[in-house]
Amino acid sequence: MTDHAETIAQLRDTVQRVCEDYPGEYWREKDRERAYPTEFVRALTELGLLSALIPEEYGGSGLPLSVGAEILKAIHEFGGNAGACHAQMYTMGTVLRHGSEAQKKQYLPGIARGDLRLQAFGVTEPTAGTDTTNISTVAVRKGDTYVVNGQKVWTSRAEHSDLMVLLARTTPKDQVKKRSEGLSVFLVDMRETVGRGMTIKPIRTMINHSTTEVFFDNMEIPASSLIGEEGQGMKYILSGMNAERILIASECIGDGRWFIKKARDYACERKVFGRPIGQNQGIQFPIARAYAEVEAANLMVDKAAELYEAGKPCGTEANISKLLASESAWHAAEACMQTFGGFAVAEEYDIERKFRECRLYQIAPISTNLILSYVGEHQLGMPRSY
Ligand SMILES: Cc1cc2nc3c(=O)[nH]c(=O)nc-3n(C[C@H](O)[C@H](O)[C@H](O)COP(=O)(O)OP(=O)(O)OC[C@H]3O[C@@H](n4cnc5c(N)ncnc54)[C@H](O)[C@@H]3O)c2cc1C
Repeated sequence: MTDHAETIAQLRDTVQRVCEDYPGEYWREKDRERAYPTEFVRALTELGLLSALIPEEYGGSGLPLSVGAEILKAIHEFGGNAGACHAQMYTMGTVLRHGSEAQKKQYLPGIARGDLRLQAFGVTEPTAGTDTTNISTVAVRKGDTYVVNGQKVWTSRAEHSDLMVLLARTTPKDQVKKRSEGLSVFLVDMRETVGRGMTIKPIRTMINHSTTEVFFDNMEIPASSLIGEEGQGMKYILSGMNAERILIASECIGDGRWFIKKARDYACERKVFGRPIGQNQGIQFPIARAYAEVEAANLMVDKAAELYEAGKPCGTEANISKLLASESAWHAAEACMQTFGGFAVAEEYDIERKFRECRLYQIAPISTNLILSYVGEHQLGMPRSY
């Protein structure tokens, strides 16, 4: 085994043990109450699992993306949900890649220890949607501060975060050559801004995802909150997208494997008409097909991660891995639902909850159509559709 293979095997064991401490019952209760899984997140944090990607010099484990991906995959495979905390693993990448040395020293060690939660990522807005360069939140420089006005939507975990990576327009659209210019990224200290220009409103959703709307009303932040150069923010946000897609795809692979195991076990146990239902090809084949799809998608996730770690372009592979992984997980969810028949909809089997949770990944963090459009344009050279 290579060093990483051994590390991955150990980390998978660790994750499995944590997940065993937080079984379906725990998640069902949180889901019912739409409550944040604080205890689960604390357990992952204390074991250093969420700081895997932070370099050692800033207090993390300095592991490569593929290992972070295996951690998230294992969380989902063993029945947990990393949606509550995956941002703690990768949102820091914006600071790491584009922040000043002073910002890195100020924030990364605290994030690595878990004392500082960087879980909120404020990009999406209600009117712009996927058309990110069309956002209307503005940050205007005033002496040593920026004054922020506008609104974000779907800012997940904002109520459980100390810091937010925020994208805002700093130069009006009509004063830049390309719409992707004039946008800037800020690291906002929410401990200073909530109730002082920043208002967070939870959105109740079909899944327990702690997502919110965030309003900015003359919110003042120090000019030192700016990450990198003013006006270059869109580039910084895009530079993190491939890693995010690979990590989310890994969660989908974990979900797919969870559904397949659940379906396979039940198909072997449940006897109807005097034989296991899994003996019927109408039950067996959809599970086998989902298995084939999930494992094929997993190879694409591995390939994307390998290219990413080698510093090679991986936009197409990262996008395809998220597309295939989210769809294969959904097919596994369907097969599992059908295998369980009526019991699939009973809360106590966790299938209906996982079914709801896994559907999200065809929409967020990027929807399937936008991935297809990326592949059509960038890989296949067809005309841009928007
Ligand atoms: C639970 C949840 C959590 C989220 N967390 C965060 C977060 O923490 N931070 C954050 O910034 N955002 C977050 N998001 C936002 C998420 O990234 C967006 O919902 C997603 O990118 C889709 O954008 P939209 O919802 O505005 O859809 P829209 O852009 O309005 O699109 C609607 C539909 O139209 C399709 N469409 C749009 N344009 C085209 C086109 N040109 N060609 C073909 N089809 C098109 C899309 O594919 C989609 O299916 C979250 C969303 C959800 C639901």
